[in-house]
Amino acid sequence: MAVPLFDTATTLAAIDAEIRAKINAIIDNGAFVLGPEVRAFEEELAAYLGARHAIGVANGTDALVLALRALGVGPGDEVIVPAFTFYASAEAIPHTGARPVFCDIDPETFVITPETVRAALTPRTKAVVAVHLFGNVAPVEEIEALGVPVVEDAAQAAGTVLADGRRPGALATIGTFSFYPSKNLGAFGDGGAVVTNDAALDERVRTLRFHGSRDKKTFELIGHNSRLDELQAGILRVQLPHLDAWCDGRRAAGRHYEQAGLGELAALPVPTPGAEPAWHLYVIRHDRSDELHRTLTEAGIGARPYYRVPAHKQPAMREWGDVELPGTDEAARTHLAIPMSPVLGREQADEVVAAASLLAPAIR
Ligand SMILES: *Cc1c(COP(=O)(O)O)cnc(C)c1O
Repeated sequence: MAVPLFDTATTLAAIDAEIRAKINAIIDNGAFVLGPEVRAFEEELAAYLGARHAIGVANGTDALVLALRALGVGPGDEVIVPAFTFYASAEAIPHTGARPVFCDIDPETFVITPETVRAALTPRTKAVVAVHLFGNVAPVEEIEALGVPVVEDAAQAAGTVLADGRRPGALATIGTFSFYPSKNLGAFGDGGAVVTNDAALDERVRTLRFHGSRDKKTFELIGHNSRLDELQAGILRVQLPHLDAWCDGRRAAGRHYEQAGLGELAALPVPTPGAEPAWHLYVIRHDRSDELHRTLTEAGIGARPYYRVPAHKQPAMREWGDVELPGTDEAARTHLAIPMSPVLGREQADEVVAAASLLAPAIR
């Protein structure tokens, strides 16, 4: 039996009627942008994360741009960002006029460390974008202790929790989320949010998302049109109460892989201290990851490398990409995402592991 890389359909089927009822109610209500659903979602998301403020925006990339601009990042500034991430984490930086400075990751955890950030710090560093990649947690408090504010890119970490109950996105100065459909909390289109405990930053992001205006009459800043719409907010409100159970399913799927013996065939993802990751992607490492990819594909198992060409080696980053990042290179070469979803069971994990074991052992 084939095992797909994702399975959002099975997960959402259980709340299908509730979502359709919500969509109908919003159509009847007739408000479609920044209305009561968005306000309620912002409050519910902030409460879920344990943060004071959440601001709904158009997508996760805009969330990063607005968070950086709210921090005052602009021309002449540098912003440190990992090279091993989805490209948008870095792409947001030049949009503010600042320069991305790429730093390395720990290839075992896939996230940045205080050491890799320190190596990239200069007197011009204005902020760090810390990516909680694949749902793991970057050590953002230790990084802020270096004296720079952190923007947590939590696009892949909705549902992740720390042992003490705190949640990524609400650990540092400001955090961002994406609700792209494939994310752990996914809209039926684009959506994003910025999260902060700081009232001044909240106000700035709210102003920036609406053309730099607070009252729709006076335009104080060159802003953006980056609003969350009512349909997406309503759909996200139906889903949010289920997020923890879904993420428990993702964590259980990770345990199924461990119990099925995957750790004997490949390097398993390593949670950072205290993190209980809601694996957005379950990413293993293997010296011959392309061969493993082919072996799995032939057996009908969904698998895919995500960042074979890391952000600093992308053509648009040419100007800023001349830097040696050995941890990034290793992760880029060896990583491979395998099936992960809230409903991935032990039998499917066994199938994935059986297929992986067909890869011919390396000749020593
Ligand atoms: C998905 C993602 C984004 C961008 O989110 P969009 O909503 O697609 O703009 C940014 N950073 C990371 C790490 C992501 O995974």
